[in-house]
Amino acid sequence: MAHVQTLLGPIAPEALGLTYVHEHLLTRPPLWRIKEDPDYVLDSQEKILEELRLFYEAGGRTLVDCTAIDYGRNVRDFVEVAQKTPVQLIALTGFNRGDYGERWIQELTVDQMVDIMVRDALEGMDGTAARAGLIKFGTSYNVVLPIEDRFIQAAAKAQRQTGLPVITHTTRGTLGLEQVERFERAGGDVTRLALSHLDQNLDFYYLSRIARRGAYVLFDGPSKAKYAPDEARVVMLKRLADAGFEDQLLISGDMGRRSYLKAYGGGPGFEYLLKEFAPRLRDDGFREVLVHKFFVNNPRRFLTI
Ligand SMILES: [Zn+2]
Repeated sequence: MAHVQTLLGPIAPEALGLTYVHEHLLTRPPLWRIKEDPDYVLDSQEKILEELRLFYEAGGRTLVDCTAIDYGRNVRDFVEVAQKTPVQLIALTGFNRGDYGERWIQELTVDQMVDIMVRDALEGMDGTAARAGLIKFGTSYNVVLPIEDRFIQAAAKAQRQTGLPVITHTTRGTLGLEQVERFERAGGDVTRLALSHLDQNLDFYYLSRIARRGAYVLFDGPSKAKYAPDEARVVMLKRLADAGFEDQLLISGDMGRRSYLKAYGGGPGFEYLLKEFAPRLRDDGFREVLVHKFFVNNPRRFLTI
């Protein structure tokens, strides 16, 4: 039966509602990263429950936590949060960027990675009964490290065994086509692949080539003026939709810092996309049916197993 795998069990795809496919609820990145910037640590159940309440009140119903194994995924706490919020939560298996992994991860073979991913997807993560709903891999800035190539091969193989969708990390939006090509070569289904952070590289020629291969193009930077003003994202979404890719566009917030979340005293928080960005799309002439695709239909199709 077609379903979506949440932390608390499988649900019908129709039950997803308004969905963001790339967020962070609980994360404890590698120590060197924390020393560089403690802003990345999200460790308060209480605060994230408050943020989830704001999301729910704004109409949001489902969130994917894209925190991978090497970025400090915390399944036990995450399950507790899922039990205390009306928002449906989804976790993933897999890895982020090659330089995040501790020694034991650096030493994993492709087959060992596949074993971890398949176990997470079919039995449960970290000794719990909570199963992963997606697989992740990532690449560095304009380079695919050897370990990242193993992540890609493992993700493709694990996808074939489990049917899970795959989401990627791109660094500054680079190497999207490379990800698509390597994933496909390893036997992965590109129509079940979503590439993150592509709005950090707002280049129509590049993005349309990725979309033409069948992958989902994910914009997860709205509000982050340090990368680009929202106008540039809106214009690019319009161009991509007009070029025939409206069923492959996804929008999320990737609010993976304390300073992005209202509950931690930052902003603009989980509610921004629903309260500010979606209304702006309507003001800018996007049809309601298209906005609905970005937040409901496309995430649902992508996440359905
Ligand atoms: Zn992220």
